[in-house]
Amino acid sequence: MIQELIIATGNPHKVDEIRAVLGGLGIRVSSLADVGGENLAEPDESGSTFAQNARIKATQYARELGRMVLADDSGLVVDALDGAPGVHSARWSGSGVTRQERDAANNAKLVAELAKVPERRREAKFVCAMCVAAADGSVIAEAQGTFEGVITVVPRGSNGFGYDPYLIVDADGRTSAELSAQEKNARSHRGVATRAIAQLLSRRLALS
Ligand code: IMP
Repeated sequence: MIQELIIATGNPHKVDEIRAVLGGLGIRVSSLADVGGENLAEPDESGSTFAQNARIKATQYARELGRMVLADDSGLVVDALDGAPGVHSARWSGSGVTRQERDAANNAKLVAELAKVPERRREAKFVCAMCVAAADGSVIAEAQGTFEGVITVVPRGSNGFGYDPYLIVDADGRTSAELSAQEKNARSHRGVATRAIAQLLSRRLALS
């Protein structure tokens, strides 16, 4: 029987990035919307770490759907801001109704907060924690990945989402938003975490 894994996120960019890696595993990778789960109550992301929040989301959705679920929690960690925005990355500015509005407000806040910080002190990283829970809500795999760089206050690139145009990730100065989807997946926090999950799952589920 073909195994099915539900990606518990409303962010289509994340579904694409995760599906690109797990699609080769021989399991069916579905989104919440594919299984009618898009209107379920959103879990309270009350954890103080990415790993705790990923676990909260995966276990709650798995129990409610009665299916195997993968959830991720991710964000931007800026050294000069003592790790902010961290687990608050998605709604850091506290404003914006749509995802695009929130991203724009968050990015404006990032630029304002770092305006007086010299570039050599603007080290930052994306972090992604992932958790897979079985249909009964038990945790069956957990992994984490990071994507390190330096923040620019002059955005570049139009790929990806969120803070991508502001994180320089290349020696030649390209931001994460200037990478193709394949290049980002090969190196990103989410790509690293997804490949680790793929390994754990293929062992656990004895997939070919
Ligand atoms: P989550 O959906 O609760 O995991 O929040 C993730 C937030 O972190 C997003 O809304 C973005 O602001 C930021 N973020 C996470 N991953 C990325 C990425 O790959 N590129 C840009 N921003 C990201």
